[in-house]
Amino acid sequence: MILAYKPGRVWPLLQVRMVRVKDFAGVKYYPTVKLKFLTGRKGKMGVIQEIDRHLEKMVIDIGPRPTGSKNNRKAYNYIGREMAGYGFAVEKQEFDCIDWFPGGASFLMEGREIRLKEADYTLPCNLGGKLHCIENIEQLRKSDIQGELVFLFGELTREPLMPKKFPFYNPPEHKRIIALLEEKNPGAILFASCSKESLVPLIEDGDFNIPCAVVPVKEQEYLLGNKNSPVRLVIKSSRKPARAANIISRGWGEKPRIAVSAHLDTKPFTPGALDNAVGVAAILVLGKLLGPGRLKNQLELIAFNGEDYFSNAGEVVFSEKSLSEPGDYLLGVNIDGIGYLEGQTGFSFFELCEEKRSRIRKITKKIPGICEIAPWPQGDHMVFVGCGIPAVAITSTQVFGILESVIHTPEDRLEIVDRKKIAECVAFLVEWLTDL
Ligand SMILES: [Zn+2]
Repeated sequence: MILAYKPGRVWPLLQVRMVRVKDFAGVKYYPTVKLKFLTGRKGKMGVIQEIDRHLEKMVIDIGPRPTGSKNNRKAYNYIGREMAGYGFAVEKQEFDCIDWFPGGASFLMEGREIRLKEADYTLPCNLGGKLHCIENIEQLRKSDIQGELVFLFGELTREPLMPKKFPFYNPPEHKRIIALLEEKNPGAILFASCSKESLVPLIEDGDFNIPCAVVPVKEQEYLLGNKNSPVRLVIKSSRKPARAANIISRGWGEKPRIAVSAHLDTKPFTPGALDNAVGVAAILVLGKLLGPGRLKNQLELIAFNGEDYFSNAGEVVFSEKSLSEPGDYLLGVNIDGIGYLEGQTGFSFFELCEEKRSRIRKITKKIPGICEIAPWPQGDHMVFVGCGIPAVAITSTQVFGILESVIHTPEDRLEIVDRKKIAECVAFLVEWLTDL
């Protein structure tokens, strides 16, 4: 069966039958698509060129797109315009947030400058004096540190604390430490990093109003050894109230809907190629290929705005406004971090019925670049799972090994992305969703 299409809108090249494409651009096997689907016809773009166009827009033209920033707005307006162009009804689901401007930080101890990084979303400060060193909750409880400069390490910096208003997961132990810090109200806080390999601050929270920065674990000994010498911490960042939005593009089929999502935001300093311009490119190409009316069920393509924002503000507003009737959704598919140069594309199931699982396994068996992996309970698919909606999460099998070393850093660039893997993933989704 050849799928209906509107001339001039989508390439007339998708067919729901097996077409083997040998060795095109290193891609061995496409289950449902013809070569022209990938390469384009005369004067028209193929899928790979379309993917490139969106990746370049997100990563190079726009760059870092933290929620609330001007770049973030550029990114969601771009997605909205593209989706409207494919015929979708586009909703801007707006919410309040903070636009945070990193200004850098410095810390002087005995005239020596210690390497450090301001925590994302921190308030600024310029504070001198003596350093109070605290390593456990007991010491913190007994301390008198009002307005003083504090260094937290040891037991207290074992793992990052969840932001105060983070709704999805927030252990009482975390809340207790934050409440105690706010009660003691130091002038500023330095954390020893929660990771030995990179700078991971104990607190990254736009609702936490004590200025804070993180130092490498290897500086801990030096700081403890010189705690009586005069120090000065300067943080130059600032916060501004802002608005941002999820972009929700709806087709017109029947409910329950099929949602396919990808987050558009990034951490502050990263161009966010793998995290997650790749996902945005995938849903845009999917939108163009499937159009608003091709599936029996209503298709909803969601560009989430807040996966890398401290309180997941976009996900929260989506849960409140769109998931009040979870029965409206048949399925949520979330795409985050696909197309890494190394390894394969990995999908995992959350509460998915056996029939759908075996259908996916059957399709992906034909595609060597895609495999099943163990479910991981992080990312925007959990927004659906938390409401009892079956979900599929798609990422790269090797992405977990580069989480803090590449992802969330300036190194997350297009050089580490293989766009053919993205095309392969889109081809798989087209075959699966058109036959659901
Ligand atoms: Zn991500």
